Amino acid sequence: MKKSVNPYNNKVLYEFEELSEKDIKEFIKRADQAARKWKKESFPDRSALLLKAAAELEKNKQEYARTICEEMGKPISQAIAEIEKCTWVCEYYAENAADHLSDELIETDAGKSYVRYEPLGVVLAIMPWNYPFWQVFRFAAPALMAGNVGLLKHASNVMKSAEMISRVFRRAGFPEGCFQHLVVGSDAIETILKDPVVKAVTLTGSKPAGSSVAAIAGKEIKKSVLELGGSNALVVFEDAELDSAIDTCIQARFQNTGQSCIAGKRLLLHEAVADDFTKAFLEKVKNLQSGDPADQDTYIGVMAREDLAKELEQQVKDSEAMGAVILTGGRREGAYFEPTVLDRVSEDMPLFKEETFGPAIGITRFKDENEAVQLSNATEFGLGVSLFTQDRERAERLIPLFDEGAVFINELVKSDPRLPFGGVNTSGYGRELSHHGIQEFVNKKTVYIN
Ligand code: NDP
Repeated sequence: MKKSVNPYNNKVLYEFEELSEKDIKEFIKRADQAARKWKKESFPDRSALLLKAAAELEKNKQEYARTICEEMGKPISQAIAEIEKCTWVCEYYAENAADHLSDELIETDAGKSYVRYEPLGVVLAIMPWNYPFWQVFRFAAPALMAGNVGLLKHASNVMKSAEMISRVFRRAGFPEGCFQHLVVGSDAIETILKDPVVKAVTLTGSKPAGSSVAAIAGKEIKKSVLELGGSNALVVFEDAELDSAIDTCIQARFQNTGQSCIAGKRLLLHEAVADDFTKAFLEKVKNLQSGDPADQDTYIGVMAREDLAKELEQQVKDSEAMGAVILTGGRREGAYFEPTVLDRVSEDMPLFKEETFGPAIGITRFKDENEAVQLSNATEFGLGVSLFTQDRERAERLIPLFDEGAVFINELVKSDPRLPFGGVNTSGYGRELSHHGIQEFVNKKTVYIN
């Protein structure tokens, strides 16, 4: 049995019966039948349905946002923004997929040679709870436009969101089997992924989950894309425009109550501005509005589960025991974790070394560019980094030195349907979004005609 529990008040919201092995086989069979037909649909026909999905999201966004808010504690205003972003990604791929996947002519010795992009078939998506709609739509929109069909295994605590997403596609008029969610736990993944009908897998989540799924996919010679954790640095140089940098850093760390893979998790400050920055940053952190996620004015909700809040509490406590100083916050109550800032954080502390998936950030000071780059890179992850400087020439010179999937200058690392998204090192491999994302799950078929 899977349960959705409101992390704000511990009320059990929904219970879902897990699928039996026989049920799972039925779902896979339906996906297979759908894939055989769906790949023959034209781009305009696929596009028309995806635009209907976008319209359905827009029409009922309050209801969908409420589901997110109740199931994982996201403040309602941010849940609405999440739904709006899903609408955007549907519209983006409805409008651009035909171009992304048009035949690519290549001059060779042949009379004609080109690459055709053909769908792979059934793709399994294993998704997390932190953006329960967005993570799924950013997979589903390109996958469906490419002619693939989707099987979703959502995180166990957000099965109502999964059901609602299936409803969006059903209401939009997608043929049966094009998008289905499976009420299963992670123990069912091996059997599903080994089924010959399932051609590929994408996972967003933690390193252990990614590693386990990639091992199975590797054994089965199936394509995988992994979007795992991150520990992005926010690097503030001495010439940064401080007021706007502070606002951006607040948003980078604290939106979604800190539960984002691309959140800014380590604050690296040039020693010349560290004190001024810290003073003003703290004021803003103390003013962040915590409260009931259902209230329009709440900015910090609760974390998605109490165990996740406890984990963060431990990381903060352990870092404090190693010499870090709590400047504000540090208190936990159930799944609520107070917005927290620590100073004097060094490389060996959990707050620096590990991913912190909640509203806590540590400050580390640096004396020059070289040290800033070294500290930023001193993590096993590689999703992204934000640099704050008014010197454009310096920023562009430093970009190649960061071992990251993305470098953002004077901006928080954020996803945008038009730009590729993904990491290096233990942050995973492959890319989502843009034309790079839609080309992950296609057969790039070489054609040579003489
Ligand atoms: P998990 O990585 O455990 O969960 C993400 C998804 O993977 C869920 O659908 C989960 O299913 C599934 N999963 C977990 N283990 C396996 C497995 N062995 N095989 C197949 N599927 C699996 O995240 P948690 O909820 O435990 O969160 C823990 C940490 O993960 C966070 O603190 C954060 O560091 C990281 N994380 C990163 C995210 C990102 O956006 N990159 C998103 C969420 C978490 P089920 O729920 O049934 O276990």
